[in-house]
Amino acid sequence: MTATRVLVLNSGSSSLKYQLLDMRDSSRLAAGLVERIGEQTSRLKHTPLASGGDAREADGPIADHDAALKAVAQELSRDGLGLDSPDLAAIGHRVVHGGMFFTEPTVIDDAVIAEIERLIPVAPLHNPANLTGIRTARALRPDLPQVAVFDTAFHTTMPESAARYAIDPRIADRHRIRRYGFHGTSHAYVSRATAALLGRAPEDVNVIVLHLGNGASASAVRGGRCVDTSMGLTPLEGLVMGTRSGDLDPAVIFHLARVGGMSMDEIDTLLNKRSGLFGLCGDNDMREIRRRIDEGDEAAALAFDIYVHRLKKYIGAYYAVLGTVDAVAFTAGVGENAAPVREAAVAGLEGLGLAVDPERNAVRGDRPRIVSPDSARVAVAVVPTDEELEIATQTYALVGKNT
Ligand code: ADP
Repeated sequence: MTATRVLVLNSGSSSLKYQLLDMRDSSRLAAGLVERIGEQTSRLKHTPLASGGDAREADGPIADHDAALKAVAQELSRDGLGLDSPDLAAIGHRVVHGGMFFTEPTVIDDAVIAEIERLIPVAPLHNPANLTGIRTARALRPDLPQVAVFDTAFHTTMPESAARYAIDPRIADRHRIRRYGFHGTSHAYVSRATAALLGRAPEDVNVIVLHLGNGASASAVRGGRCVDTSMGLTPLEGLVMGTRSGDLDPAVIFHLARVGGMSMDEIDTLLNKRSGLFGLCGDNDMREIRRRIDEGDEAAALAFDIYVHRLKKYIGAYYAVLGTVDAVAFTAGVGENAAPVREAAVAGLEGLGLAVDPERNAVRGDRPRIVSPDSARVAVAVVPTDEELEIATQTYALVGKNT
């Protein structure tokens, strides 16, 4: 294939994130973000990485995703990287929900779009935004292969015992209720990178991946295949997150409706946007929470303890699911940067072969690294995630196969 560039698009309801990569060496040629699409105060930030030039910012109304992508195309053209270039091999789109149907990256055609549309009831916030990005990009370059890379795909290998909720299967099937899991692109990338860090093949290792960003999820990966993950029908289940509650007794919802008089929309907003670390202490940024703890703030300390307690429970649960564990890998904003979270999450788990070496754990860096002592039975690793690279790699591999 002579064309070697892949544009990765991550289209949100009012944002468009992008990266242009050259797949000969996986280098990043440009990256950027359009925010507040549809408002008067839209902003485009573009970083021309290939030339090493300064980031450029442009403020002013950008009406819709179509206008946003055209503005991005213009910025890329200014760097000699226009979307009309014959060097562009494909566009890779992040799509949040692929249901059970999409088990791998898929070249987009009308039927694929229709299926992503059919999944809107289980991903009402994300799939419509992702579809907007797909339609916009297809209109701009109808001749170019476009690939959907699904957040759920990596988790489709989960056995039914992990993927099913214990409810009447007829009702579950009618409404497509099951545990799909999310952040799959990151879990796939990080579990493979962890195997590489250990100098072993992905098929030969069992890894617990802890993706701790603003959203957070854990997964149990046996020999490169996901066997359990903490998010479920939606990204609300599982770990305590920046603003999401994670696991709770479902009866809390009945109680809030019947006794608290809250509407379903209010409860939805409470659990998705006003809970987690933010709900507990008013901050969802781990840096700020650590700062407050250092000043003796009790609410921040309790929020941290609840966060870590849940994390530790999932490490234990996935240890049991896997039977033997070669590595626990921390990734994303909190996992990569917050040494106290890593230390607290494995504290007291020496019996499971888990420990961190305080000096190694304190070292900062953007390379994959092991932070457990050499004597530990299980490696504790920090493995920076790279979802854009993973999307580009999967997109390029698929397009290469088809041409
Ligand atoms: P997203 O889920 O939005 O992609 P990220 O993976 O970028 O999130 O993670 C963002 C979060 O990472 C922030 O909300 C913050 O809690 C945490 N974070 C980022 N940098 C640091 C740091 N240096 N120390 C501790 N936490 C950090």
